[in-house]
Amino acid sequence: MVVEWIKRWLPAKGPAAALATVTRDHHRISRKDISPNALKVLYRLQSAGYEGYLVGGCVRDLQLGLHPKDFDVATDATPEQVRKLFSNSRLIGRRFKIVHVTFGREIIEVTTFRGRAGDAGPGEQKQSNEGLLLRDNVYGSLEEDAERRDFTVNALYYTPKDFSLRVYGTGLKDLQDKTLRIIGDPETRYREDPVRMMRALRFAAKLNFDIEPRTSKPIAELAPLLSHVAAARLFDEVIKMLMSGQGLATWRLMREYGLVEPLLPATHAALKRNNDRPYNAFIEQALINTDDRINRGRPVTPAFLYAALLWPAVREDAEHRIQMGTPETPAWQQAMAQVVADQVRSITIPKRFSLPMKDIWDLQLRLPKRTPKRAEQTAAHPRFRAGYDFLLVRERSGEEPGNLGRWWTDYQEQNPEARDAMAREAESTKPRRRKRRRSPAPNASNS
Ligand code: ATP
Ligand code: MG
Repeated sequence: MVVEWIKRWLPAKGPAAALATVTRDHHRISRKDISPNALKVLYRLQSAGYEGYLVGGCVRDLQLGLHPKDFDVATDATPEQVRKLFSNSRLIGRRFKIVHVTFGREIIEVTTFRGRAGDAGPGEQKQSNEGLLLRDNVYGSLEEDAERRDFTVNALYYTPKDFSLRVYGTGLKDLQDKTLRIIGDPETRYREDPVRMMRALRFAAKLNFDIEPRTSKPIAELAPLLSHVAAARLFDEVIKMLMSGQGLATWRLMREYGLVEPLLPATHAALKRNNDRPYNAFIEQALINTDDRINRGRPVTPAFLYAALLWPAVREDAEHRIQMGTPETPAWQQAMAQVVADQVRSITIPKRFSLPMKDIWDLQLRLPKRTPKRAEQTAAHPRFRAGYDFLLVRERSGEEPGNLGRWWTDYQEQNPEARDAMAREAESTKPRRRKRRRSPAPNASNS
């Protein structure tokens, strides 16, 4: 154990791996596809005598013929030196110090080449007992920086100085072969930063890459380390995993590699207790909808995503409380509060999302109640559309039987008189309530 721990602190053996240089006619990165603001940053660094490279996902995506969503720059200038070069910049981050250079709505992220773990001076680097890097501001060379990146396909550097690409290891070949390969010893790298396991699954789904066996092997075993990661960081990472247009594929990988349990413990438990049914189909249907909206350029909100991810736990909890004798409305309210309180211990859900999330759940109780007055109030609820969409997802997946969603679709298309008539009819044909229903969910007779 002690030996293992010491090993982690020692620099990797030998000199840093050399980077291969790929000249402009042997790669497909062209200046015209690069953000003009990123180029401005690179030229300014160069004219001040520093090195500057485009790095990471943007180079990977350009080489794949995709449109990068942002441009990151790596340099040998320290964050303070970068800060001085750009008046439109600010220093951010503690764990990693980086500089954001802002051009209107575009932010170019500039990081200083990172050095090796073993070269840290006092206070520059900090590691927990699990191997987690808590602070990491050791600077180094381009070669060392490449070794510290997560996957070979993310360790590609482009410079407009001579239009060449600097490539770590098998990066370019892995890109061609659609292979995701972690840099260095997989277990050490996942222990240093367990989020790399989430990133592995995210890139595999997003790029439709295979995760090579050494890279995938330790994930299932090390997944529980994710519970040591800061809850606020995990919120962003889960959003990136499930709200980038490949949510369904990513969710399936998360289940395959055991990431649901550490990230969403109550959801995992609800799925397990029910042998997945009907909840996994429901979550998958929500992700199909989300992917579809994203791919058609329609807006999506983390509130809807988290409402879906946590719904199985809320419903289970509410049903349990009702069975134990709590009346329906307080049972649901208590279940919602409990599930959110438990979840935020692993993933922070900011209030601006958790409040609308609760509204979406609350609407699941309101939608079945259709007296003329109540139906009118529900339709006027600021979150009606999301609640109604949520009901449609439940019905489409079979999580909720019946076709109340259809009724609401018709209702929205009617004029006020016809709506009133619809609600009166619904009210008169409403099945009589038993004294205490076993299942509290709207229209739900089973689950
Ligand atoms: P995306 O398309 O999602 O932006 P990306 O690869 O650019 O993908 P970023 O989160 O923007 O991902 O990170 C930029 C680069 O920083 C990565 O390509 C990788 O080289 C490096 N990086 C990011 N996170 C880590 C990490 N946890 N460990 C090691 N390297 C990382
Ligand atoms: Mg990026």
